[in-house]
Amino acid sequence: MTQTDDPHVLMVDDDPLTRLVAGTALREGGFRVSEAASGEEALARLDREDVPDLVLLDVMMPGLSGFEVCCQLRARPWGALVPVIMLTGLEDSESVEQAFDAGATDFISKPINGSLLRFRIRYVLRAARLMKELARNQSRLEHSQRIARLGSWEWTVDEEEVERSAQYFRLFGGAPEAFGPSMEAVLEHVYAPDRDRVAAALEGARRGQAYQLTYRIVWPDGSVRTVLETAEPAAGGEGDGRSAPLVMEGSLQDITEQVDAQRRIRQLAYFDHLTGLPNREFFREALVVAAVRCLRNDSRCAVMVVDLDRFARINDSLGPERGDQVLQVIGHRLREAMGDRIPADPPAGGGMPVFRVARLAADEFGILVQDVGSVDEALEIAGRLLRVVQVPIRVPQQEIALSARIGVAVMPDHACDADALLKAAETALNRAKRSNGEPVSLFSEEMKIAALLRFTLEGELRKALAEGSLQVVYQPIVTLPERRVVKAEALVRWFHGTRGAVPPPEFISLAEETGMIVPLSRLVIERVCRDIADLEDRLPPDFRVSINLSGVNFMDVRLIPTVEEILRRAGVPPTRIEFELTETVLMRDLDYATSTLGQLRERGIRVAVDDFGTGYSSLAYLRRLAVDTLKIDRSFIHELSDGQGIAIVEAVIGLARSLGLEVVAEGVETTAQLQALVERGCHQIQGYLFARPMAPGLLAGMLSRVLEIPEDPLPRG
Ligand code: C2E
Ligand code: MG
Ligand code: MG
Repeated sequence: MTQTDDPHVLMVDDDPLTRLVAGTALREGGFRVSEAASGEEALARLDREDVPDLVLLDVMMPGLSGFEVCCQLRARPWGALVPVIMLTGLEDSESVEQAFDAGATDFISKPINGSLLRFRIRYVLRAARLMKELARNQSRLEHSQRIARLGSWEWTVDEEEVERSAQYFRLFGGAPEAFGPSMEAVLEHVYAPDRDRVAAALEGARRGQAYQLTYRIVWPDGSVRTVLETAEPAAGGEGDGRSAPLVMEGSLQDITEQVDAQRRIRQLAYFDHLTGLPNREFFREALVVAAVRCLRNDSRCAVMVVDLDRFARINDSLGPERGDQVLQVIGHRLREAMGDRIPADPPAGGGMPVFRVARLAADEFGILVQDVGSVDEALEIAGRLLRVVQVPIRVPQQEIALSARIGVAVMPDHACDADALLKAAETALNRAKRSNGEPVSLFSEEMKIAALLRFTLEGELRKALAEGSLQVVYQPIVTLPERRVVKAEALVRWFHGTRGAVPPPEFISLAEETGMIVPLSRLVIERVCRDIADLEDRLPPDFRVSINLSGVNFMDVRLIPTVEEILRRAGVPPTRIEFELTETVLMRDLDYATSTLGQLRERGIRVAVDDFGTGYSSLAYLRRLAVDTLKIDRSFIHELSDGQGIAIVEAVIGLARSLGLEVVAEGVETTAQLQALVERGCHQIQGYLFARPMAPGLLAGMLSRVLEIPEDPLPRG
């Protein structure tokens, strides 16, 4: 049989004459016809061959009747949509009804009229095509609804009739039987706190009001999901002028994942992941709301900033995990002390803040107290918090004792808006940190002036940097017993127009806080390289200049390329340079430090550990780091007159020797100190005893000669 595009009709009839007549009429009408002489043969063929476009089925046949064949055919997976026309010999209503019951599409009575048959078949085929398309659209719709997790319903309000899509039920995680017939039946599945809102929306919908609503539903397994429902009156009506019955249409979408993602994003944006406390951002927002309320109610509110003392040391000596635990414990204690609970969600529309404790920075917590009666009351609370922090933390085999400093500011006494209030508390905290006195410090006008001065100084330092008016001086480092200058430390100097020389610790810390330390160090390195290049022919072969770097510089990924570039331009070999870094900076991130020090060593740049002994770093770590020199901090040299100072200096020298490191003693001022150091095997000395920091020209003059051992220049009592 040749395959064509002509519609294919399978004709099933036991009567050969009917087959001949009908077959001829159909073939003439452009149909492709195949024949079966019995119901059994027809079913066998249908199972074997392509499904025809239409089946013409005689009712009365020996063996399987047409009704039975039709029933069986409809039960086949491919048979549901094939149009079947029954040929009834008798035009009685009973067999017509029976034909439809069996699943027939249409019927036609014998004897057959050829043109009527063709007409009927064309009509049925067209209807079947539409049916198929409809079914396809329907399944496409269902498919996309499933993908979009979109369920739908249609509610004929007056008749209390609701039709819900299969996907709708799936969104509720259960079977359709779990739903009562009314529209309100959904309420049973709505999470109790949201029920009133949904009921009110349905109430409105009864009057034709559209709504869009997000609410939570409860699945049979108890899990809670979030859905978004949109409902509106169905478009159009009868269109004949009569008022149409109210039909509401709705769609429901599961948005649990989106909501969760949003919550996670908010959580990340507003909460500190370590302690679970609100973060600085959230604290600030809450503060803004509190400040407005404070002004409106003519009340007082206080902000406190709590900073843990020497927290970096805990991290360094006990490891970051312990450090994290300590922060969690302190966060928890502060919260308890303030009777605080953590808000479930960040403010959506500027509601009242419901928390009092936040984590503002690494070891800094913020406290917000509303409605404090007086400044004294705020100070009392601060005192209580301090005691709470000071209770030792017990960890296995250890007790960690902590202390803190707290800056306090009160509105409206010290500031009139949120930002100023927080700033005032931070200013007070800075004062508490700098002075070694009271751990709790209340903001004052005098602090404001000092803060303003610092602000002014910041602008002036910026200007000095831009103009390049900072200077670099060199302090010789002398080796014994040769008494020659083998090294010099570069130290930056700032001569301020009106203030005179500004002490480096003051403007270096300012530069670190403001990021100006990066251009500042760059300037120092450039000056040093220029000076080395100028003096090159007067420098001993292994003479080096050591340059101080801050933590910010060390963590700067452009540090090494920048240094290489400066050295290359000045034509200075890297072996002329040593960098000084404090232990705290090196220990902050050991992996990073190991790799960076490795890179410096590869290039021939040496590294000294500055102020050694003050950072309480674990000596074991030192073995891992590629450092070349230890500089014993000045404070230990000054204690050389007592037993403890001697013990520390001896320990450092012993350690350096075992690791093959050079040792420099800093701040040597007296011959007694010099004597004690030389006796213990320390051969490199830096201090006022030999020389103060000096201009490069003077340094050059010292390089070629053997130095005198001076008399004590700074006699002590
Ligand atoms: P440091 O790196 O420990 O430098 C040694 C400091 O001790 C210098 O103070 C030096 O003048 C002082 N000093 C040296 N011998 C004696 C002595 O016998 N007695 C006393 N009392 N002091 C002595 P300076 O120049 O004021 O610098 C202080 C700190 O500022 C330095 O401590 C260093 O941490 C920092 N600093 C200085 N210049 C720079 C720089 O260019 N970059 C960076 N990042 N920091 C710098
Ligand atoms: Mg130094
Ligand atoms: Mg030092």
